[in-house]
Amino acid sequence: MLAVSWSVGILVGWTPIANRIDNYTYDLMDSYTRGFGNPSLQVPTESVIVGIDEETLRAKGGMRNIRPILADVLDQINTASPRVVALDVILADDVDPVEDARLEAALRATRNLVLGSQIAEGKWEDPASRFKPLALALGHVHTERDHADGVSRQIELARVAGGQRRWALALEAFRLARRAEIVESPGDLQIGSTVILPAQQGPEYPMLIRYLPPRWIPTISPLQIVQQRDLIRDKTVFLGITALSAAHDRLVSPSGNDVSGVEVHAQAFETMAKDHFLTRTAQSTVLLVCLTLAVAAALIFGFLSGWYAYVAAAILLGLTMWMPVQFFRHDSVFPYFAPLAVAWLSSAGAASYQHFVVRRQLHKSESEKSRYQQAIHWAAHEMRTPLTAIQGSSELMTRYNLPDAKRGELTEMINSESKRLARIISTFLDVERLADGQMELKQEPLAVAELVNTCMGRARPLAERKHIAMSLDSAVEGTLLGDRELLEYALYNLLTNAVKYSPADTEIHVYSALRDGDLRLSVVDQGIGMDAKEIKSIFQKFYRTKRAEASGETGTGIGLSIVEQIVFRHGGRIEVTSTPGEGSCFTMIMKTHASAPTNAETADRRR
Ligand code: ADP
Repeated sequence: MLAVSWSVGILVGWTPIANRIDNYTYDLMDSYTRGFGNPSLQVPTESVIVGIDEETLRAKGGMRNIRPILADVLDQINTASPRVVALDVILADDVDPVEDARLEAALRATRNLVLGSQIAEGKWEDPASRFKPLALALGHVHTERDHADGVSRQIELARVAGGQRRWALALEAFRLARRAEIVESPGDLQIGSTVILPAQQGPEYPMLIRYLPPRWIPTISPLQIVQQRDLIRDKTVFLGITALSAAHDRLVSPSGNDVSGVEVHAQAFETMAKDHFLTRTAQSTVLLVCLTLAVAAALIFGFLSGWYAYVAAAILLGLTMWMPVQFFRHDSVFPYFAPLAVAWLSSAGAASYQHFVVRRQLHKSESEKSRYQQAIHWAAHEMRTPLTAIQGSSELMTRYNLPDAKRGELTEMINSESKRLARIISTFLDVERLADGQMELKQEPLAVAELVNTCMGRARPLAERKHIAMSLDSAVEGTLLGDRELLEYALYNLLTNAVKYSPADTEIHVYSALRDGDLRLSVVDQGIGMDAKEIKSIFQKFYRTKRAEASGETGTGIGLSIVEQIVFRHGGRIEVTSTPGEGSCFTMIMKTHASAPTNAETADRRR
């Protein structure tokens, strides 16, 4: 069950809904941890955004004038001495020679220039040849959005096309700003003293962006550069188009803000500049944590019960929900849904398992109790008849002066009835132990003929009292291996039932047959009979058919259940056929024993 909860929880954790919930909690934690206790927020940013907005486009003739606008803006930026300028505009084609020459001059005058490049139709689309050599580096401008909800949470620091790898624009800008080289190792990238930790392993070095609050990175309109020159001095400038009507790369940040591509690059740059990286927890750790949760849930319900267990499980669930927050505080992204699903499923599973085990135990002890009560009831009922006989006879003997012959008769009666009483008590104890499975059955060989004779002999007086003829209608052969007392009890019970439930002047026939090593002992009567539904219930304790109740015969409804137990414990079974008003046939089917008992053995037992 543990394994099932664990695997189902993990599987559910991979579904798109789980992915959305994980993303949602990531975004919540991201915005929660962003503002508070984050000392790096006190330090001003190392980058600024110069965004060509609607106002600039309107003032300067729109997108068809973009190159002259860029040239103008670059000239102005350059007067403010930035550290690096990263251009998030693809200058792939030659457009107008005069305009291009102007832009070329502006780019030439720009120090530490990074130009954008993008993959189109599987190849790098680089800046036109007149611009390309002016850049100290080319960086890819691809941003990334989550396929489930379109939110831009990470960028790939490296992209490959046509066998050629390009670092991201933000990474190249960061490298130039730090005046260092990129030192690559399988797990991370190092630039100067900064070790850039990717979110997870991979040749693309995906990096989670730690978005600063909106406007935290100064965003300057080109129309205001002159007034805000101080903001640009010695900063890395990300220059791009922010106008809604023109920018083709509008994205959504984790906190739901609309961001332009150029801002995503600047935010990625700040993540590196503030040395604030987030990594995703390794799958193996997630699986291990989930396993621990499943085991914890199992232990809770294994060792605790009632409210304690439920409170402990609630604490476990609380911890599971709190865990991703703790991981996040330590710059690690831990999935929210899968562990929670595992914790819920295993707690629910363990709780219901516990519930059912407890219920089963309760049921077992209750049925044991009622079985015991039933047995007591039976014993008390069965003992009443011999006790009444003993009591009556002894009273007669003490009260009246009886002739010797009568006294002898009564003494004989007291003697036989007390023996019967003793037999009932021992049967009671045996049956108790039999039902408990405690009783070791005796395994003695006994001749079937002897068994049938004894039982018929004992039952015959009862039959005669009702004028019922009882006959043995076949030769009886074979030997059984079993407990004589109990088997006698079983057959005697079938015979007395046949007598009890038959009207006077009918017949009872006993048949014995040996077939393929099976002994079939049948008792056939012409009594009240039963219908098919009743036959199904007669082996239940205390069940009596309506006809039996109406017959006026006393009974407890326990005898047949004992008979069935006895036959079953001897490896046999009972078959019943019956027709209401016509009669019944009870057949005991048992395996016979191969060797017949010797005469000596039989004689021994008689003694
Ligand atoms: P009891 O005879 O004390 O009622 P048993 O367990 O011996 O209890 O039998 C259960 C019930 O099965 C009887 O009450 C009766 O309804 C039915 N039954 C048993 N034997 C016969 C029979 N030979 N003919 C008809 N009904 C029978």
